[in-house]
Amino acid sequence: ALPEPNGDFYGQLGDLTPEQQAVRTAVRGFMAAQVAPIMNDYWSRDEFPRQLLPELRKLDLLRRVWNEDGTRKPDATVMEGLITLEACRVDVSTAVFFGVHAGLAFASIALGGSDAQKAEWLPKMLDLEAVGAFGLTEPEGGSQVSQGMRTTCRRDGDAWVLNGEKKWIGNSTFSDFTVIWARDVDSGEVRGFIVRAGTPGYRVRKIEGKIALRMVENGQITLEDCRVPDSDRLQEVRGWRTTAEVLRLTRAGVAWQGVGCALGAYELALKYAQTREQFGKPIGSFQLIQNHLVHMLGNVTGALALCLRLSHMADAGQMRDEHAALAKVVTAARCRETVALARETFGGNGILLEYGVAKHFADTEAIYSYEGTNEINTLVVGRAITGLSAFV
Ligand code: FAD
Repeated sequence: ALPEPNGDFYGQLGDLTPEQQAVRTAVRGFMAAQVAPIMNDYWSRDEFPRQLLPELRKLDLLRRVWNEDGTRKPDATVMEGLITLEACRVDVSTAVFFGVHAGLAFASIALGGSDAQKAEWLPKMLDLEAVGAFGLTEPEGGSQVSQGMRTTCRRDGDAWVLNGEKKWIGNSTFSDFTVIWARDVDSGEVRGFIVRAGTPGYRVRKIEGKIALRMVENGQITLEDCRVPDSDRLQEVRGWRTTAEVLRLTRAGVAWQGVGCALGAYELALKYAQTREQFGKPIGSFQLIQNHLVHMLGNVTGALALCLRLSHMADAGQMRDEHAALAKVVTAARCRETVALARETFGGNGILLEYGVAKHFADTEAIYSYEGTNEINTLVVGRAITGLSAFV
């Protein structure tokens, strides 16, 4: 019998704790039973399948990462990584839904919220009874948003008035709230707000026509004299420092997306190479195809090692910005190379959704560009190793 495709060539995932293994198994089961049968349909329709929420709720995944008071479990980053890995192996959009809610939105309140705000939102978020979104990027640009943020807030009595636009905001078309980052016109400080769905002056339009992550619903948000009570301003936000802290926490998760997506594509390609015949032999017996497969496996193995190490560093409190940035740069680039080789291995079938690899191929383009583009993360590492900043 031919060996079953297994991208964990060095058995790196064999060293996990029983709880971590159980979470991996649960996510694998969920992806196979609930997501795989519907994902191509929803991906084509440009729509997030809301019916997944009750099923996801049963897995209770957020409690593997976060405590109810907003502190993190001792192995939170490893756990998040494993959830992301197993989700992306099948479907990156599902992992992105989770990453936006359980990472960006949850962390904004956990790090920037008062005790009262945490008590109001975090338990509901843990149970997926309230879904969150994270609104930072603007139409004029994501890379420069720390310096060029145009969305403004202005204090008016016991409320704040928000004006501006946000682009690409995942989950925002159906979320219960979006964390909106805005610059205070008086002090110049960056502030964060919990803007509840339905607030007058807050409008969300779904972005149509994406060629990647089509199952994630991204919104373009307009804020027009949108009044938010001061009690919904994130009380513990200390300017851009807090926003950056949230992004630092979640960047490791995006690095894991690159590993999971590449792993899934490699495993699909290997299976196909073992069974697809040309010239009377499986294509996997041709040297050039074996070269593709080994190159993919090398990428996946190296990227997995990098992310495991990064996550252990994060959980030990040793991860710096440049560590997360380097992992994101490397795994996204290796993923891009891997999905291209995997797609190529499928020949013409590689561009058909039903063969699976086409979705990985397309979704990688989003991984490559969000949570800091390849260039911006490269410059973060460059600044750290040279002591010279390319940004100023
Ligand atoms: P730009 O900033 O305009 O960059 C364009 C190009 O210029 C890039 O190649 C960039 O690397 C390069 N560049 C810019 N500055 C420099 C420089 N100094 N040196 C060299 N090159 C440079 N944002 C949210 O807030 N919330 C979300 O939920 C969210 N989800 C997203 C989901 C998807 C599918 C996508 C595509 C994006 C999402 N984003 C989200 C936004 C994302 O983070 C931004 O797209 C990203 O930060 C890049 O910003 P930009 O697209 O405006 O590109």
